[in-house]
Amino acid sequence: MRAVKLTGPGTLGLEEVATPEPGPGQVRVRVAGAGLCHSDLHVLHLGDAWPVFGGTVGHEGGGWIDALGDDVTGLTEGDAVVVSVIWSCGSCRACIEGRDNACTVAGTRTGLPLTPGLGPDGSMAEYIIVPARHAVPIGALDPATAAPLTDAGVTPMHAINTVLDRLTPAATVVVIGLGGLGHVALQILAAVSAARVIALDTDPAKRASAAEHGADLVLDSNEHAVERILTETDGVDADVVLDLVGVQPTVDLARRVVAAEGAIRLIGLGGGSLPVNAGVEGESLPWGVNVQRSYGGTRQDLVDVIALAQRGRISIETVTYSLEQFQQAFDDLEAGRVAGRAILVP
Ligand SMILES: [Zn+2]
Ligand SMILES: [Zn+2]
Repeated sequence: MRAVKLTGPGTLGLEEVATPEPGPGQVRVRVAGAGLCHSDLHVLHLGDAWPVFGGTVGHEGGGWIDALGDDVTGLTEGDAVVVSVIWSCGSCRACIEGRDNACTVAGTRTGLPLTPGLGPDGSMAEYIIVPARHAVPIGALDPATAAPLTDAGVTPMHAINTVLDRLTPAATVVVIGLGGLGHVALQILAAVSAARVIALDTDPAKRASAAEHGADLVLDSNEHAVERILTETDGVDADVVLDLVGVQPTVDLARRVVAAEGAIRLIGLGGGSLPVNAGVEGESLPWGVNVQRSYGGTRQDLVDVIALAQRGRISIETVTYSLEQFQQAFDDLEAGRVAGRAILVP
């Protein structure tokens, strides 16, 4: 089969490799589509720090069950599935408590739980081997366009589920960054809450579709945004800020538009930082603000986004490339030329 491999620091290549066989408790999925994520670009740019040269990349996958290993029950060949991004163990304390994204057996306090494409071979290939519990049936959904639900869907779903009680009809939520994750965040917010949604991006093309995705007000993320949000909220500012970008200007924006006692969810991995001062001097957060460095999502979050997609409440804009066009897809993502989510189709 063909697979896109991380061949060296910053380089990818399409290689012919043996089609893998599922072991006990595993299934083989014939890949219908594999989503590209900004995290894939981060992996490329880690250089020599990344330990798995030769591994197949891609952590957003969808396809059909193609072969079952021993001891697999509940799945049938031909079932359409998506591949969970977080291969949690299911039995550590975090997993039992429903916090799969903090699974402590595969991960560490500061590390990541096991993730396909970031250790185990990922989905940018014709086939992928998956632990059976992480091949999640999606019924009649198309597994190619459903692939990004596992990350571009689950990641904002998780952040939103952690602030759901704050999203009252009178509340305001600010969404910064309307790309792959952001345009899904808008749809989830429209589906699960009546809060007012203010959407921001620097890119006019990304702002263009925000209203149809559920934003009540769409603003250019420029120097006027802070004042405008303050005015729009009668001087109170935003109850919730979702930063899907995470670069220093967006993190600063989040800090400057969050209300006292509000909540910030840092979701994008742009490398910005948020000062928190234990005192009254200097640039800090308003009193009482709750901040979470949000990572991935839980099995419940995945169930939630699959249900929303099945009911037509969210749909992910996708741009399709063949597996051979992987380099073009990565270049387009890096250059900001992808509207929604890029998908490689084997
Ligand atoms: Zn990702
Ligand atoms: Zn676990």
